[in-house]
Amino acid sequence: MELGLQNKVALVAAASKGLGYGVARALASDGAKVSICSRSADEIEAAAKKLADETGADTLGTACDVTDPKDIETWVKRTVEQWGQIDALLVNAGGPPAGYFKEISDEQWQAAFELTLMSSIRMINAAIPHMTGGGAILTITSSSVREPVERLVLSTVMRSGVVGLVKTLADELAPDGIRVNNLIPGRIDTDRVAHLDEGTAKRLGISFEEARERSLKNIPLGRLGTIDDFGAAAAFLLSPAASYITGATLQVDGGMMRSV
Ligand code: NAD
Repeated sequence: MELGLQNKVALVAAASKGLGYGVARALASDGAKVSICSRSADEIEAAAKKLADETGADTLGTACDVTDPKDIETWVKRTVEQWGQIDALLVNAGGPPAGYFKEISDEQWQAAFELTLMSSIRMINAAIPHMTGGGAILTITSSSVREPVERLVLSTVMRSGVVGLVKTLADELAPDGIRVNNLIPGRIDTDRVAHLDEGTAKRLGISFEEARERSLKNIPLGRLGTIDDFGAAAAFLLSPAASYITGATLQVDGGMMRSV
């Protein structure tokens, strides 16, 4: 199937590695021009070069901390100066820290609000004036928006706000030809998931391998997902091929979530 991404301009946030990089690679492989960002200039420039080498696509790497509104403006401006418009935006950031409700401080709540919810609002606000030909926005949340996960209260609360934003914007931006969807990663093999498994192993006094084995028992397909599994679904939702899909939440989780 043709996704129709040839020469489209895509912004992909938090993409020096992990899910963001996987989405950037899927979009670039299909012919999109891809502008990626993350906090470290060295890491994002190296990732942009790797992306161009792997796909042959035009790529741009910009240092941008998505908790900083000025950084977001600079990233979007640089992209538009280079390529003139924006057709697709992947909203992404690092995950908030794990912890039980009673362990979380006011400062941590505020930081999670900035990292997860405000960054989503600001990236979308910065991009839409340049999506003059319509396009698509995709957020990344977590299975916690449907089935709260132990010790991930910050993620559960802030990402539920992101899903509310997606549903609202699907209505409000439809007249401008902009679709807005949300993608849930189940357990995709990235540093973030390894970090969470290390935390579980330490807390329960078991090995990393045992912690991982426990989580695999809950996944019908019996393996972690790859960033390419995730990238393929994201590229579809961000592409003209998904032209009648908006306001949707799709999970890429090997069957892990039991909710209907
Ligand atoms: P990762 O740690 O592998 O990669 C995170 C990326 O985000 C890196 O490129 C990092 O440099 C960048 N980043 C972090 N904070 C940033 C900031 N403030 N500004 C700009 N860039 C920033 O993580 P991942 O697994 O790719 O996860 C991406 C998001 O998806 C996270 O919010 C994570 O909690 C969420 N998530 C992931 C999974 C999974 O299965 N991997 C599951 C549920 C939710």
